[in-house]
Amino acid sequence: MTNEAKQVWEQMLPLLETEITILSYDVWIKTLEPLDVKDGKLILMAQSEWAKNETNARYLPLIKAAMNRVSSLLTNVDIIAKEEKDKYASQEETYKIEEEPILVAPEPLSINLKYNFENFVVGKSNQLAVAAAKAVADEPGTRYNPLFIYGGAGLGKTHLMHAIGNSIRASQPKSKVMLVSSEKFVNELVKYIGREKDGPKFRDKYRNVDVLMVDDIQFISGKPGTMEEIFHTFNELYDANKQLVFTSDRPPKGIPDIDERLRTRFEWGFTADIQPPDLETRIAILRKKAQIQKYNISMEVLSFMAECISSNVREMEGLLNKVILLSQLNNTQPSIDLVKEALNDYSAKSEGEITPDDIIDATCKCFGVKKEELLGKRKTREIVEPRQICIYVMTEMLDLPLATIGNIFGGRDHTTIMYARDKVAQMLTQQKTIDDVNNVKNMVLKK
Ligand code: ADP
Ligand code: MG
Repeated sequence: MTNEAKQVWEQMLPLLETEITILSYDVWIKTLEPLDVKDGKLILMAQSEWAKNETNARYLPLIKAAMNRVSSLLTNVDIIAKEEKDKYASQEETYKIEEEPILVAPEPLSINLKYNFENFVVGKSNQLAVAAAKAVADEPGTRYNPLFIYGGAGLGKTHLMHAIGNSIRASQPKSKVMLVSSEKFVNELVKYIGREKDGPKFRDKYRNVDVLMVDDIQFISGKPGTMEEIFHTFNELYDANKQLVFTSDRPPKGIPDIDERLRTRFEWGFTADIQPPDLETRIAILRKKAQIQKYNISMEVLSFMAECISSNVREMEGLLNKVILLSQLNNTQPSIDLVKEALNDYSAKSEGEITPDDIIDATCKCFGVKKEELLGKRKTREIVEPRQICIYVMTEMLDLPLATIGNIFGGRDHTTIMYARDKVAQMLTQQKTIDDVNNVKNMVLKK
């Protein structure tokens, strides 16, 4: 095994891990061994002839794509079987080639190869957004700048954003495409604020790009420092004819507590919404998702699934995955009965007891914070408020001792929990707190 091969492969692994199921990753990817780098080719060894063929058939394009992202010198991948290793080694003796150094990207890129235009199903509900996204991908920074895509949860906004990124990467490999969640943007900014000398580093990172895409921009609402930074970044990139893309769960007008100058800028270019897909589109989406997993499911079963879940594609995909799993476990073809079984599991959960995790998840969603942060120790205002609301809602909705809630929140004392509960209770005279508490509760009940 050469060092170069190993080095490249180790950088490819985390990229591949995010693209496929853990099971497939463990079975097909982790078992490959990086043997060599030769003639611009990465040579990988599968554990058997069969594994070689399967991996070639299923994952070769994905492996190549991951390789292109970590190395600009390698152009191809060859998977050989263990049985062929000796033959390969003797060939190698004869044509020993100087190995070239590999250029390795400094940090893994955050654009997910899984989301592209080819596997995005176009229907009435999203055709405008798709057309605009494709136009942006074809000619970034010219028309439709900024592109602002909005719509409800699980309708494909993030998918489209990654598709734009992948498409630009493919056609203009040199262009710098940056995609961040607004959450990540905020977190980084918080990290740099107050560290004067690091400020320019943060700025350079976001202002030296050809395309900047910020996902779920609604989360900057009420965060003046972040808005200010986005405002300047926006101006600089826009003036330099760089492309900007934003997604949000609501139109610019609907985002509360946001700087007016920023709101109008969001509306400067093109605003496109995505609506829930109609039945026909839902069926087509399910069909595509099943195809991607190389699964054949009858039209009847697909339509039944599409009728059961109507407003959220992510949930529909969850149902499909469950049906596929059940069919694999039972060794039967997907059928309407199997879908019903999968759905039963769903309703059993939603009718059943509310768990602390449900409330934690709902709070994280409502406030756009991470679970580790919510349960962690940080005491900044952005995190303390959601934490206290979460604790309050737990004491209201769950029949749990305060000490148990304290344990859930990283071993806090029960008096701390009591303090948080009472604090929120006192603030329930304020409209904002009432809204926050109700939002979390509604989100929990919607599950
Ligand atoms: P959002 O960002 O709007 O909440 P996502 O982009 O994360 O939603 O989409 C949720 C899931 O639904 C993803 O797996 C995505 O691939 C899938 N999806 C949504 N719309 C479509 C579509 N039209 N065609 C194919 N997949 C879709
Ligand atoms: Mg999203």
